[in-house]
Amino acid sequence: MSAQATQAPHLAEAPRIEKFSPVDGSHLGDFPISSADDVERAVAAARTAFPAWRDLSLNQRFEYLERLREIVSSDGESFAKTISEDTGKPLLDSLLTELMSIPLFIDYYRKEAPRALKRRKLSRQLFFPTKTSYVEHAPMGVIAVISPWNFPFQLSMIPVLSALIAGNTVVLKPSEVTPLTGELMREIFERAGLPAGVVSVVQGDGATGAALCRADVDKIFFTGSVATGRKVMAAAAEKPIPVELELGGKDAMIVCHDANLDRAARAAVWGGFLNCGQMCISVERLFVVEAVYDAFLEKLKTEIERIRVGAPDEGSDMGPLTFGAQMGTVARHLQDARERGATIAMGGRPMEGPGQFFEPTLVLDVTEEMEIYRDETFGPVLPVIRVADEEEALRMANNHQYGLTGSVWTRDVSRGLALASRMESGQCSVNDLVLSVGNPALPFGGVKRSGFGRYHGPEGLYAFMNQKAIMVDRGLLEVEPFWYPYAPKYEAMLGTFRNLMGGKMVRALSHFYEMHKLTKKRP
Ligand code: NAD
Repeated sequence: MSAQATQAPHLAEAPRIEKFSPVDGSHLGDFPISSADDVERAVAAARTAFPAWRDLSLNQRFEYLERLREIVSSDGESFAKTISEDTGKPLLDSLLTELMSIPLFIDYYRKEAPRALKRRKLSRQLFFPTKTSYVEHAPMGVIAVISPWNFPFQLSMIPVLSALIAGNTVVLKPSEVTPLTGELMREIFERAGLPAGVVSVVQGDGATGAALCRADVDKIFFTGSVATGRKVMAAAAEKPIPVELELGGKDAMIVCHDANLDRAARAAVWGGFLNCGQMCISVERLFVVEAVYDAFLEKLKTEIERIRVGAPDEGSDMGPLTFGAQMGTVARHLQDARERGATIAMGGRPMEGPGQFFEPTLVLDVTEEMEIYRDETFGPVLPVIRVADEEEALRMANNHQYGLTGSVWTRDVSRGLALASRMESGQCSVNDLVLSVGNPALPFGGVKRSGFGRYHGPEGLYAFMNQKAIMVDRGLLEVEPFWYPYAPKYEAMLGTFRNLMGGKMVRALSHFYEMHKLTKKRP
């Protein structure tokens, strides 16, 4: 009998994630996949750990988070290298868009959480004169966080940390596309010395995610595609438990006739090619008004030419596509666009050599029926749409299935604000883009197919808490006006009701006090 055959079958056949470098295709390692049993064990451990974690004070929870912050601070550069190796993104991006979220959010919540989580006393209501009302928030219990590969660290850590601050325990399932970052986060949680079961990381693909949705969790916080979001929501509906869905986008950028064109062109290129365009809040539809179209386009081309594409260690602006399958999506969208009359003004092809590199691509004459306009491309492609004016741009921007973020570019801030208010999206910036998601005070989330629910800001704590209403009566009245007996009080009740409906409050109250007297008398 071979050594292999003497092993328990589940060990011999344990499936693993094989990870290859997006930069050069080299084999970066194999990672064990958590089974459905592993997932259940992690959730059970989180359930056991919950009461003690919930009962810690905010300060005590923050002590653990401060340790985590110190670890990220001391080893940040090496962590950035791991994330860049996993995703192919420039080292600067790993520092800026992944790791910097840790101090920003911990600092913000250290200040905000005590205020947001304080029991709130409400103003007294006329017909509840002896009662004091409060609203407070209670942690939900065990939270499942399921995250994607495009910002594998930030999009896992921020929901996990928010849920922890709010007093929950968590099981995190990062994307199978970026297992190195999954292992990195497991290491960070271990080193922070969090009590057993408070955070567990289960690695694996959709099957592991589905097992987590089926397990005994109290909420699912999901970031990913619309297609998977539907499955997650269906699984949550079986129980039912709440879900938050942070899904795809096709964000609009509107360049008005009075925009600062230099600033807008540099922003469009950063917002369109950052993270190789693999960003839910990437500029995926760039509307430019006729009056400035030609001048803006020249500036755009100059900026795109300046993009340095390369491996993370070569000081690149843009790396390869992280997920190989995206090469196919990008090529398909470009082919469809060409066939329907678009012009590929720059780029448009995979780059020579190893790795998943694609040329920064500028597409002009884009129209509403093209795939590149309708569906998320998630690649280094900037589609430009020429419009008569900003009203046309706004109408087109809103006539779309997605609504995550967007931006408006104008020197007239009042008009910018008015356009931003009318944009159908979860966030909208004026003369800025992308950075609003990094502002920890601003709620983030989508409308329409981009999902629902909000995190970041105080909402980022409430997302993981149940609101609880408390009403207190100090017992000064012996009885309540509405209690039994009913028989002597019908007329008084009618008087209360009719005057209340007619807006005659003083009369309504006098009938109300009459009811109280009659209740006290009890024949
Ligand atoms: P995806 O939907 O393929 O996968 C997301 C996660 O879900 C992964 O961890 C995956 O393993 C898991 N999963 C797959 N099947 C599952 C199932 N049946 N049950 C439970 N979990 C399952 O998405 P992706 O390709 O990793 O990420 C790209 C998508 O995410 C894009 O559409 C992008 O726009 C979106 N995204 C949205 C935001 C946002 O904040 N709104 C941020 C980043 C990415």
